[in-house]
Amino acid sequence: MSDQYTFDNPVTRYPTDLGAPELDLDTPGLDSELTPRADLGENTYRGTGRLDGRKALITGGDSGIGGAVAIAFAREGADVAISYLPEEQSDAQRIADLVEAAGRTAVLLPGDVGDAAYCRQLVADATEALGGLDILVNNAGKQQNQATLEEISDEQFDETMRTNVYSLFWITKAALPHLGAGSTIINTSSIQAYSPSENLVDYASTKAQINTFSKALAQQLAPKGIRVNVVAPGPIWTPLQASGGQPPEALPEFGEQTPLGRAGQPAELAPAYVFLASPESSYVIGETLNVNGGMPNP
Ligand code: NAD
Ligand code: MG
Repeated sequence: MSDQYTFDNPVTRYPTDLGAPELDLDTPGLDSELTPRADLGENTYRGTGRLDGRKALITGGDSGIGGAVAIAFAREGADVAISYLPEEQSDAQRIADLVEAAGRTAVLLPGDVGDAAYCRQLVADATEALGGLDILVNNAGKQQNQATLEEISDEQFDETMRTNVYSLFWITKAALPHLGAGSTIINTSSIQAYSPSENLVDYASTKAQINTFSKALAQQLAPKGIRVNVVAPGPIWTPLQASGGQPPEALPEFGEQTPLGRAGQPAELAPAYVFLASPESSYVIGETLNVNGGMPNP
């Protein structure tokens, strides 16, 4: 069986033509309703003990990139708590089953990361259930395309900021007292931080903020032995994109603009998070690891 270590051609590793229909799922999109289904590494991610005994909290860990990271972390030996919205219970349960199938503990903690009280409770509950915390992945995100600035409602702007930026502040601040030397924080940014699309003005701005927040904090925490890094994905096939992240008519060609000529799959992101979470990356701090099919950026 092939896994992430199989030498093959990255161009043809996944279909160049995704075969995606023009989907318009309700937000938040469910992985179980995504057509075609995304690859979260269920049948391909092979762990080698790189995170043995670690305790991780992953926001948006029910689906897409966060779901793939949860599977990979568990197979590398970590116990995993995941945050997600209550509407995503079925997706979250599926990931929890996969974490447990890897012999690790899964903790499910639903709620809205746009709410400060939930963010604080999330960290408290995750830490208590896992018996500590040494990996924090801030990955939850909201993305709704709007053709014009006038079409971005005040509510959407506020929700995008709260979900993508305020949550990062609230959750990280609450986590710090629990994180010892050797702990790692990994935040999910985007190619949108550097090459913003005209129809993602609010979303793209939050991703630039996440990069800068992370680079500033990385310097502050490095002397304590806590490393902060970022993963910046390109176009990845997830429910976020099929629930208004892109206009439905853009989905059939999604990702074909990349030098690889195809969309990425969540499974292709997980190894970047594993690398940044593990002590292999001990001298990597304040870095943004681009996983985007070859699109140039600073
Ligand atoms: P996804 O929909 O699978 O994951 C996003 C998750 O965010 C959801 O599962 C949901 O649980 C969580 N979330 C959203 N709003 C929330 C709220 N108010 N409270 C709690 N949780 C909330 O999609 P994904 O693409 O895997 O997204 C993961 C991250 O990757 C996001 O930060 C996104 O911005 C980023 N990203 C995605 C792409 C892409 O092409 N898919 C590209 C660049 C960056
Ligand atoms: Mg989800």
